[in-house]
Amino acid sequence: MSNTTLMMIKPDAVENGHIGNILQKILSSGFQIKALKLTQLSLNDAKRFYEIHKERAFFNDLVSFMSRGPIVVAVLKKKDAVNSFRNLIGSTDPSEAAEGTIRKLYATSIGENAVHGSDSDENAEIESSFHFAGRERF
Ligand code: ADP
Ligand code: MG
Repeated sequence: MSNTTLMMIKPDAVENGHIGNILQKILSSGFQIKALKLTQLSLNDAKRFYEIHKERAFFNDLVSFMSRGPIVVAVLKKKDAVNSFRNLIGSTDPSEAAEGTIRKLYATSIGENAVHGSDSDENAEIESSFHFAGRERF
């Protein structure tokens, strides 16, 4: 168990004006922000970030969606951050996400599901290094 995770507010949620509400919910759930920025992935960046899914049927839709507009990226700190944040965001498919979760509140579909959260401590570290130089993480 580690104490940091990597989150992204995806292009759909940025387009729909949910940056403030999502960050508010994250902070009020006890996460500390260790790094934060607004950025945009190129198509190639998105392909690298989601390489693990490259054989999946939804891969092309996923990488084109993730690169179509700005995203907010943050490193978050809390005890058992990876699991705690996955609980806060809810199921991948918002129709299956629990009441009060970020995806239940703000996602529109299984593909355009508002937020990303790392799925393991190892991936949290890989994904944090993908997005932030060491001097940007506090
Ligand atoms: P999660 O983001 O909950 O960890 P996955 O790692 O399985 O989910 O998938 C990565 C992302 O790919 C999802 O968040 C979603 O944007 C997209 N995705 C996953 N499954 C599907 C699907 N069946 N159809 C379309 N897009 C999908
Ligand atoms: Mg995942």
